[in-house]
Amino acid sequence: MTTTDGPGTATRALQARWDAVMMRNYGTPPVALSRGSGARVWDVDGREYLDLIGGIAVSSLGHAHPAVVEAVSRQVATLAHSSNLAMHEPGVALAERLSALVPGGARVFLSQDGATANEAALKIVRKHMQGRRTEVVSTEGGFHGRTLGALSVTGTPAKRAPFEPLPGPVTFVRYADVEALRAAVTERTAAVVLEPVQGEGGVVVPPAGYLAAVREICDAAGAMLVVDEVQSGIGRAGEWLLSVAQGVVPDVITLAKGLGGGLPIGAVLATGEAASVLQPGDHGSTFGGNPVSCAAALAVLDTIEREGLLEHVRALGDRWAASFDAIEDRLLVAHRGLGLWRALELGAPVAPALEAAAREAGFLVNAVRPTTIRLAPPLVLGPADADRFSAALPGLLGAVA
Ligand SMILES: *Cc1c(COP(=O)(O)O)cnc(C)c1O
Repeated sequence: MTTTDGPGTATRALQARWDAVMMRNYGTPPVALSRGSGARVWDVDGREYLDLIGGIAVSSLGHAHPAVVEAVSRQVATLAHSSNLAMHEPGVALAERLSALVPGGARVFLSQDGATANEAALKIVRKHMQGRRTEVVSTEGGFHGRTLGALSVTGTPAKRAPFEPLPGPVTFVRYADVEALRAAVTERTAAVVLEPVQGEGGVVVPPAGYLAAVREICDAAGAMLVVDEVQSGIGRAGEWLLSVAQGVVPDVITLAKGLGGGLPIGAVLATGEAASVLQPGDHGSTFGGNPVSCAAALAVLDTIEREGLLEHVRALGDRWAASFDAIEDRLLVAHRGLGLWRALELGAPVAPALEAAAREAGFLVNAVRPTTIRLAPPLVLGPADADRFSAALPGLLGAVA
């Protein structure tokens, strides 16, 4: 692990080319990655990092996992694309596997990513409630994607404002507040859309029983429940589906991020009446459920199961939590999370500085908010690497205090 001042020569060169040609929507990333293996990545200057953010909770098996490499290589050499004019074995097999994660089963639509999974979910709501109800209730601080529909239910005013008018009407209520939701959901509510734990909001874990209460409120009002498990699902929180693990069966569940192990894919799982809402001609995608992405997702599901990764994620998450508990530092005011999905809450808006200090020390973490560091490493992270970060954390906190 080397530490230098800021990016190296090759990184700076790529940053200059980026600045000249890319749109400004991301700013200029401070790091340029060239390759990865397991939970390790290397930048274009050859510096090694422990990857504790995993491409924003995406690289669930880490980088270049043999199961993903083998599945993707075999599939791309066999049939890379079919469109929705033909079906294929990996797509049907993936839908079967995902359906089996939901009590009573589900029908599945395969999309390209999280936003397009949520678009399909919102179209299911619209069509099911057509002529009856249009209002959607969502949560402040929630995140559902950047397309217009997904953005319309995203609870960050600054992200929405430049693009209004958006589809609606949408009412936003305080997250994790059962009474606020109860007051907002009426006989005009078509659906409630929320995350079981808010990811982009800063790994905000609601009190036990929140999601079950949301389900009851929806049932009482005749509203649908859409649970966005794009970030929480497929092992991140130590469960296949956090909603189902909490005894809640939503009308619609959306998935993406970790599902493809680094390949782009999303999925919509619809139960009960919601499963039959979309009929021929109602929705589609040329690339959704691409065979290569489906092969990768099947490899992810197989590997999580075969290697007992759900138990591993829960145990390592607990170990991390205990190690953070043991840190006596006034800057670290709290930590929270489930499984390998953690937030470190800081007493001052120095998360970007801590992210930079961590990077200099060889750890990639994410300042998800000014006072919050998010950790979402590969699910295959080992205890020695987890401990290495815990051991370095007091020094990193000291450096930015
Ligand atoms: C990341 C995310 C999305 C959007 O997914 P994209 O693949 O970036 O479109 C939607 N919902 C949640 C909860 C997310 O974390």
